[in-house]
Formats: sequence, structure tokens, C-alpha cells
Amino acid sequence: MQKGFSTIITENGGYADLHLHTKLSDGTLDVEEVLTLSKRKGLRCISITDHDNLDSYNLAAEPAKAIGLEIIPGIEISSVWQGKDIHILGYYCDPTNLALNMELQDFAKQRVTRAKAIIKKLNALGIDITFEKVLSYCKGKVIGRPHIAMSLVAEEYIGSFSEAFTKYLGDGCIAFVEKKGLNPQQTIRLIENAGGIAVLAHPYKSGLSDEFIEQMVEWGVQGMEVYCPAQKGAVGRKYKEMAQRFGLVGTGGSDFHTEGSTYAPNCMKMPYTVVQALRERREKLRAEWY
Ligand code: AMP
Ligand code: ZN
Ligand code: FE
Ligand code: FE
Repeated sequence: MQKGFSTIITENGGYADLHLHTKLSDGTLDVEEVLTLSKRKGLRCISITDHDNLDSYNLAAEPAKAIGLEIIPGIEISSVWQGKDIHILGYYCDPTNLALNMELQDFAKQRVTRAKAIIKKLNALGIDITFEKVLSYCKGKVIGRPHIAMSLVAEEYIGSFSEAFTKYLGDGCIAFVEKKGLNPQQTIRLIENAGGIAVLAHPYKSGLSDEFIEQMVEWGVQGMEVYCPAQKGAVGRKYKEMAQRFGLVGTGGSDFHTEGSTYAPNCMKMPYTVVQALRERREKLRAEWY
């Protein structure tokens, strides 16, 4: 470990944040910057869960070790159900798993096709942005609506990033194009087959019904985010209770994307015991298979 760094274990065992993004999807910091910020925010353990790619893990493993930060391989996969995006987190997947990497490569290609279709719709509305310009905002393989939004702001077609979604890019808006992908059940299997454990991301933000969450449990989801910036007060308690009722590991994190937002690493102050529960659940699952 580098001089001056140690693992942060507080009286309660320390804190974990299992939902962070970097430039490798639609975050604004690079991997090393996210590691140092996480350390500065007092975290013992993190998982970088970029959208539809596992590329952060190889870059993060050594530098994280050097500063005494535990890191779990993570990913946030966009599954699709009845035209709706359902985000599923995968923890402990083998980053070299062939089937998973092949699927992720297909997703990346489909995202390029979709980005071009969105840009075509915008062009037809008289908005003169190009694929090349949008691509310049994308630092990984996962091009998406946030990069189109960045281009719209930079070219002054709109005043803010969020306005890009309310006016043009949001679900059902004038330049919206559906994403293609695996359904939730296939996504859970893909994660499990890569040695990982599937966790339902931000159920409240995704607008999922209780019945659908129960269906996800039958399909093999093992955890659900309950430490979630959008799930406060009574809503938060509802999902915590639901996780217990369905026997799910209650996980979570900041869903950090950019500095300056209220959702900084460790803003949820999630206890490290969640990581232990997740690890135990994964070991139990694997013991059942082999
Ligand atoms: P995509 O994967 O291309 O469909 O883009 C989805 C990403 O866009 C999400 O993960 C968010 O980071 C961002 N996003 C989606 N809806 C909104 C919104 N209404 N306001 C701001 N960002 C959004
Ligand atoms: Zn995102
Ligand atoms: Fe998400
Ligand atoms: Fe996320």
C-alpha cells in the first residue's frame, strides 16, 4: 500500500458505495479520479458500475489496492422490458467471461445505431449536430443519450443537460429511440453465468410495480438497491421492507456521475456489512451450483 494510505475501518466497520460511474460510461471523472475521491470521502469499499461495460476493473484494481480501497468488479446493464429500460447491477462477474463480453460488444454496436437514429431525428427538427461531435464526448465504448445531451448543450440548442431530456431525448419525447437489449431474465442469467450476482438497481426511479419486482425475484435477482438517493423517507422504508420480505440483499450507493452534484461518493453512508452480506450470498449461490 502507498505511504500515507490505510484501509478506512471505522467503529461500525466502515462504509461502502456500490454504485459509481466514470468516463467509461456517462460519468465525468476518470477511474483514478473516482478512486481518490472515494478514498477522500471515507469509503472502505466501492464498486464502479459503469453502464454496459466492465472496463474500469482492470484499470482500478492495482491503484485501488495501492491506496487501501477494496474494489468489487461491477457493471450496470440496461435490460429492456416492454420498451422500458430496467437497470440491473452485476457484482463479482469475471471480467474476462466470453459470453458476457460478446453481449456487451453487441450492446455497444446497437448503441451506435441508436445514437445515429436519434441524431437523424434531431437533424430532421433542424438541429444540426453530428455523430462525430457526439462521439467526441464519449470516452468509452458506451455511447448514449447523455453524450447527445452534452452536444446539444455545447451547441447551445438547449440551456441545460436536463432540458435535453425533457424536450428531446427522454422516454417518449420527440427524438426518443428505444434501446434494444436483453430482457431482465436473460440479463440475470448472463450475470450469473459470468460468476456474478444480480441486483435490481434503483427500483423507485425505474418505476417498477411490486408485482414486477416479485417476478424479478423469481427470475433470480438476489439483491435490490435500498440505499438509494431517490428513495427517501417512507419510500425508502417501503423498499427496505420489501427487500426483507423477498429475502433480497439490500444494497446501494450514490449513483455518482459528476462532481458538484449532491450525489457524491459515500452520500448514502451504507455500512460495509452490506458487502459481507453480498459476498456471503454469492458464495451460497455458487455452492448450490457446483
Ligand atoms: P441511455 O443509456 O443512452 O438510454 O441513457 C441513459 C442515461 O441518461 C441514464 O443513465 C442517465 O444518466 C441519463 N438520463 C436519463 N434520463 C435522464 C433525465 N431525465 N435527466 C437527466 N439524465 C437522464
Ligand atoms: Zn448513468
Ligand atoms: Fe441506472
Ligand atoms: Fe447508475
